Formats: sequence, structure tokens, C-alpha cells
Amino acid sequence: MSTIAAISTPNAVGGIAVIRISGERALAVAEKIFRPYGEKIVAEMQGYTCAYGIAHDDGERIDDCILTVFRAPHSYTGEDTCEISCHGGLYVSKCILRAALKNGAVSAESGEFTKRAFLNGKLDLTQAEAVMDVISARGEAELRMAEQLREGAAYKKARECSDRLLKILSGIAAWTDYPDEDIPEIEPTAIKSELTAIRGELASLIRNYDSGRILREGVATAIVGRPNVGKSTLFNCLSGCERSIVTDIAGTTRDVVEETVRLGDIVLRLSDTAGIHDTEDIIEGIGIDIAEKTAKNAELVIAVFDGNCPLSADDFNLINKINNKNCIAVVNKSDREQLIESEKLSQFFKHIVYISAKQNEGIEQLENAVKELFLINSESFSVATASNERQKQCIERAICSVDEGIGIIESSEMYDALNVVLDDAEQSLLELSGQKITEAVVDEVFSRFCVGK
Ligand code: GDP
Repeated sequence: MSTIAAISTPNAVGGIAVIRISGERALAVAEKIFRPYGEKIVAEMQGYTCAYGIAHDDGERIDDCILTVFRAPHSYTGEDTCEISCHGGLYVSKCILRAALKNGAVSAESGEFTKRAFLNGKLDLTQAEAVMDVISARGEAELRMAEQLREGAAYKKARECSDRLLKILSGIAAWTDYPDEDIPEIEPTAIKSELTAIRGELASLIRNYDSGRILREGVATAIVGRPNVGKSTLFNCLSGCERSIVTDIAGTTRDVVEETVRLGDIVLRLSDTAGIHDTEDIIEGIGIDIAEKTAKNAELVIAVFDGNCPLSADDFNLINKINNKNCIAVVNKSDREQLIESEKLSQFFKHIVYISAKQNEGIEQLENAVKELFLINSESFSVATASNERQKQCIERAICSVDEGIGIIESSEMYDALNVVLDDAEQSLLELSGQKITEAVVDEVFSRFCVGK
């Protein structure tokens, strides 16, 4: 396999930058572009040791650097690996990379270091995918979920289920292949209860999938309401800046203003929309059409009402339009006298939150309502959970096969057929961990990584 090199730190100016070289010739390449200040000889350096020296290109000095050596198999990739840490200038790091490429390394592709770690058995595929989740985590909950996978929680659970399936399969094989031997008879009820238990374990791997997806991708959220109820003020309060125009004149948000904001553990992809109400104004009408479409496509609708006024015809009109949505009613202006008929609102909304967007009050209740609506609780973060569609589909296929197996046991006790479906379940789990997978899928998985990881 070729020796690869890439800049592993972001493509930006920083304190330090790291150029990573991995492969059989990693030390040979490093030796050609790095000269230690002391007596050290690069080719003789032990794993987990460093040297201080200069990186150079054909003898021409580039920068003072630290070289760290990792010896196979005790490295991230499982291969000999060298990391050169230099001053974090873009030009400096590019010069060192160029020197490495001139001296025998080839440019690493996206995710190639992690792909090699996978191919060399350092990680299973779910752990490799989790590396990307760790990198892209934006908050504690996301990081905790990603760390679970990176530490192999899903892999271990799938492996355990796979071993239990194999045990059933080998029991059936022994009994059917050697009828004359003194092998204990198959107990259909025991197999059924074992399959039911395996199914439960597998189902737990996807139970929190949607919560995880919401944590990773955020919730497409539309803030809607008639003019002047405080939509823009709420939007600004959540996004912490004055992006929407807030005025006393009704109808000032004519288009959709968007922002990604964090509400506790949850990321909301917020759209502040034009006030939905009856209007003759053509331009405003266009804004209202867009607002209605945005609400229709949103995963969460925050319907804002003015607590300072009784519900109006426009409010009821809005309620009818958003009726079937994942919706939270936000009664705003709690700092003023409350004239809204809360009991009427509660006929339409399961979740009602009272806030003062202007005074930043009640936002925690809004956060709790969002969590409740999307079933996000601390259990969602602490249970091993599939983190992408590929993993989810493998697990769903395995569950489907186990279900078929349970059906066969219940109806016919045809062990040949049971063998086939349980073998299918086993194959799906091998795909999950990447033990049995096509090159195209592997390439697809790693193409989503960044270069240098
Ligand atoms: P929008 O048309 O629904 O986007 O409403 P705005 O956010 O532009 O707010 C309309 C008016 O209500 C402005 O004068 C805001 O200052 C005021 N407002 C918004 N939120 C509150 C609140 O929580 N309390 C009070 N007292 N006034 C508010």
C-alpha cells in the first residue's frame, strides 16, 4: 500500500499545524524532509517518541518542527506513521506537505487515514463512522452519542447478537446434520425466546435514532404567527442578534429570515416568517405564501400568540393551518397583562409555553417542550444508537430476518428455512460492522470524511 500524506489540521491559520504521513515508507519520507537538531536518527526512532528539528525541502529550511513517530501497529492507522507539527501557517504546512509528496508520499484521499485504520482492523465500520460524528459534534449530547459509537458500543452489541445467532445456527446444524448422534433435541420455545431477546437488543440500537438524527442535523423550525405577536423578537432572542427587523408596525418581516441556533442540546434551524393574516397587500401576500410553505415543510412549528390580547380571527385562521404539525404554542409578552384565553388554546395545543421574548424569560420552558416533543432525554444520549442511515438499514434488515425466524418457529418449525433467515440476519450484522461489505460501500463511507482524517 502507498505511503500517504496530508495536512490533518484545518485549512486555516493557527498555533500549530500537523502534517501526517502514514504507510510503510513513512519514516523514510520523514527522514528525507526532517533533520533532528540532536543526535537522533529518524529511521531508528522508537514508536511514541519525538524529535525537535527542522523540516526542509532539498536542504532548504522550511520551519522548526516536532516529529512524532508511531510504529505499526500502534498507530491510528495501524501503519508506521509520522506526524510533523509545525507553526500553524498555511504556507508553512503546505511547503512541508509538498516536500513529503516530492519524497515518496502520495496525497491522502478524504478519510484515507481512518479507512486504513478500518482496513487494518483498528476500528470496525461503526467506530470509523463515529470518528466523523465526533469531529462534527456541535454540543455535549452529540459528542456523547458519537463517543459511545467510537468506543464500540454498537459494534459490541451487534457482535453479541451475532454470536447468539451463530449459537442457534450451529445448534440447528448439529441436530439436522447428525441425527444419529446424541445431540440434544431443538427446543422451539427456547429458540423463540432467544430470538425475541436478540430482537430486543437490536431494536434498542435504533430506538433513539430519530433523537440522534435531530441532535446531529437540527430541527427545521418555522416561527409563525400573525403580525406583531413578537416572532422576530423571539427569533432574535434565540439567535442572540438583531437579524430580523423588530418594529411596532405590523408586517415588517416580509420574507423568511434564517438562522441556526442552539437551544440547550438541540439545534434549531430557525425560519422567522412574515405574519400570517388576511391582507390585500400583494407584496405582503407573497411573504405570507412563503410563510405558509415554510411552516408546511418544517419539522417543528413554533406558533406565537400575543398574551396581551384575546385570540383573534387571524389567530384561529393560523391554528387551522398548522393543526396537524409538531407544534408548540408560544404565548408571548408574559411581562404584560394576560388577556389571551389560555383554555381555548389548550384545546388545540398539547404544548403551550409562556414567555417574554423581549425580556428573555421562559426560554428554558420552550427548550423543555422541544425536548419532550422530540423525545430527547438523557437516555437518548447514553444508549448506543445507530448514527446514520447505513447503520440503521443494516439493523432493520437484521430485525426483519429475526422476525421472520420467529414466524417460522411459531408456524412450522422448518429448520432449513429458519437457517436461511437467521443466516441473513447474521449477514446484515456483518455488514453493519463492515466485516462483510463491498468496496463501493467502504469508499462511500469514507468519501464523507475530510482530507487528513
Ligand atoms: P412580529 O411582527 O411578530 O415579528 O413582532 P415583533 O417581534 O416585531 O414585535 C412586535 C412588537 O412587540 C415590538 O414592539 C416588540 O418590541 C414587542 N414585543 C415583542 N416581544 C415582546 C414581549 O415579550 N413583551 C413585550 N412587552 N413586548 C414585546
